[in-house]
Amino acid sequence: MKDNAWLKLNKEEVFKFCDEYCDFLSRCKTEREVVDYIVSMAEKNGFSSMEKGGKKIYEVNRGKSVILAVRGKKDLEEGLRIIASHADSPRLDLKPNPVYEEEEIALLKTHYYGGIKKYQWVSIPLAMHGVIVKENGEKLNIILGENPEDPVFTVCDLLPHLAKKIQGEKKFFEGIAGEELNILFGSMRKEDKEKEKIKRFIVELLEKKYDIKEEDLISAEIQFVPNFKARDVGIDKSFIGAYGHDDKVCVFTSLKAILEMEDPEYTCVFIAADREEIGSEGPTGMKSRAFENFLIKIADSPKLKDLVSVFENSKVISADVSAGLNPTFKDAQEKHNAAKLGYGVVIERYTGSRGKYSTNETTAEFTAEIRRIFNKNNIHWQAAELGKVDEGGGGTIAKFLANYNMDVIDCGTPLLGMHSPFEIASKADIYETYRAYKAFYEG
Ligand code: MN
Ligand code: MN
Repeated sequence: MKDNAWLKLNKEEVFKFCDEYCDFLSRCKTEREVVDYIVSMAEKNGFSSMEKGGKKIYEVNRGKSVILAVRGKKDLEEGLRIIASHADSPRLDLKPNPVYEEEEIALLKTHYYGGIKKYQWVSIPLAMHGVIVKENGEKLNIILGENPEDPVFTVCDLLPHLAKKIQGEKKFFEGIAGEELNILFGSMRKEDKEKEKIKRFIVELLEKKYDIKEEDLISAEIQFVPNFKARDVGIDKSFIGAYGHDDKVCVFTSLKAILEMEDPEYTCVFIAADREEIGSEGPTGMKSRAFENFLIKIADSPKLKDLVSVFENSKVISADVSAGLNPTFKDAQEKHNAAKLGYGVVIERYTGSRGKYSTNETTAEFTAEIRRIFNKNNIHWQAAELGKVDEGGGGTIAKFLANYNMDVIDCGTPLLGMHSPFEIASKADIYETYRAYKAFYEG
């Protein structure tokens, strides 16, 4: 059904669902925090760890990605119904040797993660999230900058009065360089004859606060993320503005859907992958063997041939956000094939760029099957492309899952301002994404 979803949806139901989503977004900003949340929700809903076994199971990989499965009535060899999203979002990571001092100010060096417009990450309050692992294996979970009494952090921009040459003559995207994304970290010192007095004072403070030494920062994953909470946006509160809709909106909606599966026909699988924003590399990314290994572990039969059947009979939703048509910048999109906010979940048969490079393309047959499921369940859905043919492009984890010879389609929520510190989604679309995923699991 292609129509404005607000005309038919029950507003109270949508708003209630989205309140829970906002709470999740405000609390979970890193992939590790998302994985912890998923595990706690799964356990509350009768899931057990892989080792314990059972009908509903989960497996966490390195604390950064997670797979859930609910056994269906049919054998695994008849295929799975998989919804795969990603829990990582663009951000500023700390470098291994981050702390330095310049002009009596202590700063931190960062290395940005994912595709950001760097100028958007200056002059906003940032919170510090992550883990530090000491040599003895002890792990500290750190969140600083979220509570009202916490300090926050920021990258200081240059005042417009003096920016004419240094920034004004540069190309827009180059206005802020990667090496200029330095975090303001402190400025106090004590009586000290040594060099780098401020740095020494600040490092000592950090060492005392967390009972660490400076070298421990090398074995840490510290991320700086916007400290804002998810908020209603617009006079009618029809939107949610937040950091990390991409792709936590698809994580949350598919999680809600699988938690409601009691006795599905086909075995349902939920994946929250990591590292999507940088190309799905590494053991917790979708290119890794982790997913295949998971299936081997839960397989009833030791025969490799049966595993081939599992893959070839499976159907997959690659659950990721799409670009909504921005009325101010609509020239970047082709209006007949652009997603509109408020028109429900988006299906994209392909992503990629230019001549359909680097993308999976869903077959006409599987697309018809998805249409049938969505229409049968009166779901508001729309078919779109990311943007104009020659304008650029992007990718999702769809192509890595398609490599297993499975049918895969991209399907998710449209956003405005994707990859910015404050992304916008329509509550109606979030709700329809959840309903679409649930209908897919139910078959
Ligand atoms: Mn994404
Ligand atoms: Mn992204």
